[in-house]
Amino acid sequence: MNTLLLPAADPRTPEIAAALIRDGKLVALPTETVYGLGADGLNEEAVAEIFRVKGRPQDNPLILHVTGMAQAERYCHSIPACAYTLAERFWPGPLTMVLPARDCIPKRTTAGLDTVAIRCPETAVTLRIIELAGTPIAAPSANLSGKPSTTTAQHVLADHDGRIPAVVDGGPCRVGVESTIVDLTEDTPRLLRPGGVSREALEAVLGSLQVDRAVLGSIDRDAVVKAPGMKYRHYAPQGKVLIVRGSSQAAARYVHDHFAPGDRVLCFQEELPLYGDCRPLAYGREAEPETLSAGLFAALRELDSPQVRRIFARCPAGNGVGFAVANRLAKAAAFTYVDAEEAP
Ligand code: AMP
Ligand code: MG
Repeated sequence: MNTLLLPAADPRTPEIAAALIRDGKLVALPTETVYGLGADGLNEEAVAEIFRVKGRPQDNPLILHVTGMAQAERYCHSIPACAYTLAERFWPGPLTMVLPARDCIPKRTTAGLDTVAIRCPETAVTLRIIELAGTPIAAPSANLSGKPSTTTAQHVLADHDGRIPAVVDGGPCRVGVESTIVDLTEDTPRLLRPGGVSREALEAVLGSLQVDRAVLGSIDRDAVVKAPGMKYRHYAPQGKVLIVRGSSQAAARYVHDHFAPGDRVLCFQEELPLYGDCRPLAYGREAEPETLSAGLFAALRELDSPQVRRIFARCPAGNGVGFAVANRLAKAAAFTYVDAEEAP
């Protein structure tokens, strides 16, 4: 199969992509979070193809992408008032809401759950494609299952060139980590995954917000969790990722003491001078967490090589989008931390 690369700025792109979606085919789409592997979310076979191409476990449901609340109402019911408030405040944008699903949604899309995850992305070309396709587009992150997510069209091609009909190239993703997921099907809203809409911003609208335990620690493979995706090893390069906690100075000392051939350092730009001879790669500036979220997956992909044995990673404080960055790094590291201030 020849994979078409469709530029977002080409006026023919939306209709070409929408026609493929209507025809039950896969199209990788840019969003402000990451690139998604999209297909008609109401077409069982198209959805099955997403799982096959991505190598995604069958029990990991997909997010439906819509143009707004009016379209969302066709696919979920018993929508609480706070969902409308959240949509008004954060849509289009990186917020996914879990709501009770209507029967028209195939069980494959929801992985058998009676709830469905819905969001309205902000990228103009993708909104236009959803509109022209006339159907909600189901899309997980476009990476092969388990690999770091895709934040450029080139990342998508690296995983899927020749395996999918088309990629829409909208340039690098603005946010760079996946959407915030909030479950609104219980009495108290629950944060299932941190993302581009911060926990603080959600709390300001919702009042109270529980944080699911899958966000904070590792989850047993057989555990019953609210967001099934949270239990899998995720975002992981081939080498072992180790998060080094502590001040910049203490961390650099620890890394210098333990550095071996095949090791790499993933740090903040401000810290590069501390790692001259340790092959550091900066993924953004600590002082500007949005640059860390925007750069994280490209950096993890660059370090995803059989030559890289171990990655010493620096992780930001957990406020704002830093919470999402810390969560993705923790998953990539399988929650392996070392405290440089106390380490020998
Ligand atoms: P991805 O699209 O690869 O970012 O993955 C989508 C995420 O949304 C996964 O972590 C899923 O487990 C989660 N998700 C999708 N649908 C639901 C749902 N109905 N309830 C809870 N989590 C969901
Ligand atoms: Mg994913």
